[in-house]
Amino acid sequence: MRPDVLFPFFAEVTSLPGVGARIGALLGKLAGPHVLDLLWHLPREVIDRRYRPQVADAAPGRIATLELTVDRHHPASDRRRPHRVTCHDKSGQITLIFFKGNSGYIQQMLPEGEIRLVSGRVEHYSGKPQMAHPDFIVPLAQADEIPSIEPVYPLTAGVTPKVVYKAVHGALGKVVPLGEWLDPAFLEKKAWPAWHDALQQAHNPATEKSLMPEDPGRERLAYDELLANQLALAIMRAQARKQAGHSWIGDGRLRKKVLEALPFALTGSQETSLKEIYEDMESDRRMLRLVQGDVGSGKTVVALLAMLKAVECGAQAALMAPTEILARQHYESIKPLADAAGVTVSVLTGRDKGKARKGLLAEIADGSTQIVIGTHALFQDDVSYARLGLAVVDEQHRFGVHQRLAIAAKGTGVDMLVMTATPIPRTLMMTAYGDLDVSRLMDKPPGRKPIQTVVVNMDRLDEVVAGLQRKVQEGAQVYWVCPLVEESDVMNLTAAEDRFAHLQAVFGDHAVLVHGQMKATEKDAAMERFVKGDARILVATTVIEVGVNVPEATVMVIEHAENFGLAQLHQLRGRIGRGDKASTCILLRAPHLTETARERLKVMSESEDGFLIAEKDLELRGAGEVLGTRQSGLPEMKLADLSLHGDLMKAAYDDARLILANDPGLESDRGRNLRTLLYLFERDQAIANLRSG
Ligand code: ADP
Ligand code: MG
Repeated sequence: MRPDVLFPFFAEVTSLPGVGARIGALLGKLAGPHVLDLLWHLPREVIDRRYRPQVADAAPGRIATLELTVDRHHPASDRRRPHRVTCHDKSGQITLIFFKGNSGYIQQMLPEGEIRLVSGRVEHYSGKPQMAHPDFIVPLAQADEIPSIEPVYPLTAGVTPKVVYKAVHGALGKVVPLGEWLDPAFLEKKAWPAWHDALQQAHNPATEKSLMPEDPGRERLAYDELLANQLALAIMRAQARKQAGHSWIGDGRLRKKVLEALPFALTGSQETSLKEIYEDMESDRRMLRLVQGDVGSGKTVVALLAMLKAVECGAQAALMAPTEILARQHYESIKPLADAAGVTVSVLTGRDKGKARKGLLAEIADGSTQIVIGTHALFQDDVSYARLGLAVVDEQHRFGVHQRLAIAAKGTGVDMLVMTATPIPRTLMMTAYGDLDVSRLMDKPPGRKPIQTVVVNMDRLDEVVAGLQRKVQEGAQVYWVCPLVEESDVMNLTAAEDRFAHLQAVFGDHAVLVHGQMKATEKDAAMERFVKGDARILVATTVIEVGVNVPEATVMVIEHAENFGLAQLHQLRGRIGRGDKASTCILLRAPHLTETARERLKVMSESEDGFLIAEKDLELRGAGEVLGTRQSGLPEMKLADLSLHGDLMKAAYDDARLILANDPGLESDRGRNLRTLLYLFERDQAIANLRSG
């Protein structure tokens, strides 16, 4: 149970003074439903109200706090005119302006003949100073109601800065000091404040510099979040590993046959990864391993050999892919090799229905199918396995963690192998997959020709198309990728259809279109024409992003390349350069680009190294966007910015491991405080695991 001290943090925002249902709903949208969420809502800027000039000296355009004597009110003569108030100090006159104000209220705030402190932006109109809608008007006795440095919070439609300020600072009033969860020596070395001080400082910035990510208070808050994330992952990892696994040793007989049937030798990276995988499989603990390797680095063979090791022991293996096309392609490439070893393989997807499906399920249930390849269909309720020993999840970034768990639940102590082609920077790796061991495929199979990548302005489209005609005549196949507009499927479709019509006029029957809204059967038929080589140019939205393998395709055009993430461009580009011929990737860009967009496309044209590209992407865009939070299962960070706090991430990773090594049940004094930290960042599940462990 969550400790009592945290109750106020988890109260609804509507429990704060001045926050009713309407404002509460808006704050919920802006920050979150709980008091706690407001604490994490940090200011982005500051307004400095310490500038206290005489009226005559006040610089136009600057925020100033003035001490004024109120002279006369000039209420609006009609609704289009402002209510004006003339005031002065000993240096000169200034007019305060209120449009659509309530005159009675304005007169009450600014009684004639009295002195008021007025803070707002000074402007000059026809050479005379004025101030429209001051931010603060207070009597001298209440001068301290005007913050000298005012934090400016991110807003949402319907709430004013004042409302957000009041709510956040109301929330801050609920903060009580909590027992320190950081290691005292570490805290001292970093010279970080205590947690509650760090929060107070973050919301009451002393200067502009207090907003920087390297401010000690901000760093501490970021670290707390990273530590909570890492500790939760480390607990899950320890928990998963505690479940007894199986020791799969095998006699190597099936693997030997497949290695003999392969037309190539394994790369060094493939050998190393397999060694790591085999060690995991042989130990009696569960394997939880991620194989990370660029597109085309040869992950499928690695998966197959691991699966055969399980099969040699009489167990079954499953390979799960995110799409129908990809599952079938895996089946096509694995089937002949499995045949060579005398191993039975079947493929199961959502498309298998009725009797055919029943037959497949029966063979999986009685164990006559040794390797099952498929989509999400593999872990549906009515699928049961005779003896599932190893589950391989391909292109993990398309699946969430719970899907990983669902397939593992189809057996007991199932070994898990997760494969991803998204080269994830180390820091992100730790936040998303801190619970997995990692093998990396660093080198590519030999004989690959480099891909030449060029960035071309969209207004040279005709030249590009003419160039493609020549290439196609020489026998090349072309992918044409249309831009994806996040918000609108309809617009995507229109863009793709328009482009298709345009290219069809040039290439006739040689052009095919594939997009997300097509029926699976239509999609597959079109893909098939391209795979067979009947169609020479495949116009597509990003459905080709994962998997498909057409070695004859040596040209890729990506429209509005500036709209894609670097990782995504890299994935797309990996579709070409698969055969023995040189390949070209043409990035069509909009005529006008931001500096960052220009730089990003430059990275693409200069490098083919997925890991380097991923690091650059993180640097240029920030963490949230690199993988797309929703797709990656990457936890959203509220306080930490992984593109800036990468070093802290590493420290938190080490810290979490050390903590659990010394105090696996989090039962020491510090351990108990760390539990509070986990609750604070809503990692309740990790604590539940701690209990059951
Ligand atoms: P990915 O890592 O993208 O899944 P694949 O497993 O699809 O890559 O492999 C891409 C291609 O490289 C396939 O045609 C595969 O047969 C081939 N391949 C894999 N390993 C090697 C190797 N060691 N030497 C040569 N070709 C290889
Ligand atoms: Mg693959």
